[in-house]
Amino acid sequence: MSRAFNFSAGPAALPEPVLRQAQAELLEWGAERASVMEVSHRGKAFMAMAAAAERDLRELLGIPDGYRVLFLQGGASQHFAQVPMNLARPDQAVDFILTGSWSEKAFADAAHFVRPRIAAGAQDGGFRAIPPRAQWQLSEDAAYVHIASNETIHGVEFFDAPDVGAVPLVADMSSNILSRPIDVSRYGLIFAGAQKNIGPSGLVIVIVREDLLERSAGRVARIFDYAAHAREDSLLNTPPTFAWYLAGLVFQWLKAKGGLAAMAASNDRKAAMLYAAIDGSDGYYANPVDPAARSRMNVPFTLHDAALDAIFLEESRAAGLLALKGHRLVGGMRASIYNAMPEEGVEALVAFMRDFARRHG
Ligand code: PMP
Repeated sequence: MSRAFNFSAGPAALPEPVLRQAQAELLEWGAERASVMEVSHRGKAFMAMAAAAERDLRELLGIPDGYRVLFLQGGASQHFAQVPMNLARPDQAVDFILTGSWSEKAFADAAHFVRPRIAAGAQDGGFRAIPPRAQWQLSEDAAYVHIASNETIHGVEFFDAPDVGAVPLVADMSSNILSRPIDVSRYGLIFAGAQKNIGPSGLVIVIVREDLLERSAGRVARIFDYAAHAREDSLLNTPPTFAWYLAGLVFQWLKAKGGLAAMAASNDRKAAMLYAAIDGSDGYYANPVDPAARSRMNVPFTLHDAALDAIFLEESRAAGLLALKGHRLVGGMRASIYNAMPEEGVEALVAFMRDFARRHG
């Protein structure tokens, strides 16, 4: 049996050449005569690899000077707490734009540390759109504005960094980082869990404007303090060494594929193909999201009769199309088509969907 096309939302598919390289050097990494998992994070070989990974990420995303990149242990959820701890005082307001479950969770967690406000929210419409920028009620004294640039569950994506004036914009990019070029200078802080477009779980990348690091001064325990991690080049304590190494391989793979412009073109083609199949199915399949905000990474869709869901999942799995079950909050199916999903995978899914509709019409 060969590898299937894996549509998991995360941990998600990784590029096959990356896995093969990791496999080939698992026991003896470089000149080390030991696995990358078995060497000190303060050793020369690891530090050189770590620095190269950061350089490659900076090149891919065009991260300007004046921004620090942190490779940290943990998950993206941890930063729902850590961002307010570091960037705001307890009495300060923080503005949230709610576009789905992940921004909603970040909003709820921030209440432990600051005064979160909903500046705009699409919750009443069931998170099917991004509230028009003109309707956002931003507070001038907010410490920052929080968005989730891609809502992994609801399939709603921002395609531009919204203009929030002088207040720093914080983006949870867990599920669309590296999927297209972005202008990092529009953001104060970006964080992303690795397990979709970066590498294995256990690693979080934080990209933060240097001046914002001063805000935590003396208030935050060292392990939660972005400034302390920046001072120690992310080696304040033991980082997730294997995940960092694998992320480095993913960055090399992305560069070899032509960088983020090439990735964006491929991601656009994949998403267009899948949405066209859904919209062209005469109502057999449906996606409820405003076409202007439809995610190119996570495509939720329902079947016209939910009684067919179990059969769809069983048959798709047998056809080598994995993990299409939708999130329990929205039901139906979800196809996550991150960078590592080849166009042939989406072609296979679309062919399967057409055939399924014919057979179960
Ligand atoms: N934010 C977004 C947009 C996500 O998709 C996820 C995970 N699916 C998280 C945050 C939480 O990530 P973690 O499980 O690493 O805490």
